Amino acid sequence: MSPELVSAAADVVRSAERIVVLTGAGISTDSGIPDFRGPNGLWTKNPAAEKASDIRFYLGDPEVRVAAWQNRLNTPAWTAEPNRGHGAIVELERRGQLHAVVTQNIDGLHQKAGNDPDTVIEVHGTVWFTRCWDCDDRRPMAESLDRVRAGEADPPCLACGGILKSDTISFGQALVPEVIERAMTVSDECDVILAVGSTLSVFPAANCVPRAKAGGARVIIVNGAETAMDRYADWLLVGQIGEILPALVGV
Ligand SMILES: [Zn+2]
Repeated sequence: MSPELVSAAADVVRSAERIVVLTGAGISTDSGIPDFRGPNGLWTKNPAAEKASDIRFYLGDPEVRVAAWQNRLNTPAWTAEPNRGHGAIVELERRGQLHAVVTQNIDGLHQKAGNDPDTVIEVHGTVWFTRCWDCDDRRPMAESLDRVRAGEADPPCLACGGILKSDTISFGQALVPEVIERAMTVSDECDVILAVGSTLSVFPAANCVPRAKAGGARVIIVNGAETAMDRYADWLLVGQIGEILPALVGV
C-alpha cells in the first residue's frame, strides 16, 4: 500500500466533521485480545469456550456456567491496555470530529483509551458488566468476580436469585434493538465512516457501511485482510491497523 493512498485518505479524515468509526476484533489484537475465529483464536484453541458462549448451554447447564466464571477471572480484557489505534480514535473525539464509535468488541478498550462512554455504541455488549437473565439487573463485573473468588462458583443475581452472565450478546441471544437502531442512525448521519479491524461479515453491525454510503458518507476501510464490504470502500487500506490508523489521523 502506497504512502500516497494513506495520505489521500488522511485528507478525507482531516476535513470530516461527523466521523463514525466502526471497530472489530482487529483493532484489539495489538492489545493482546485474541480474535475468536482466527488461527490463534479463542474458539479455535478452546472449543469449550465456544460452547459456553451459546446461551442455551449457558442457561441450561450449571457446569457450563461454573467453567465460564472461572474463564472470566482471567479474561484478557482486565489487564489489556489500549494501543495506538484506540488512541487515534480518542484524538478524533478531542478534535470534535467523532460522531460515534460503533464497536463489535466487548473489551471496553475504547473507553479505557479515553473515549467518552456516551460516544461508544457496543453492539455486542461488554464484559465489564453483568446482567441478570431474569430481572435485567446490571452491575459491574468486578463485584461478581469478587464473589467467585470468595467461593461462589456460579453467583446468582443479588436482586432476584436469577442467572447472571456477562452483559454480552451470546450466540442464540437477541441483540438489543435500541442499540442497533442507534448504530444505524449515527451511520445515516455521518460524513465519513471509518471501518477498522472488522471483516464486515457479521450483521447487523456490518450494515453500518452501506447505510453510511447510502447517506452520502465516504467510506474508508482499514483492515489486515479483505472484508465483505470492500466494494463500498472509497479508500481501502490493507495492512497493520496500529500503523495505518495513527497515520490517517495524524498522531
Ligand atoms: Zn435478577
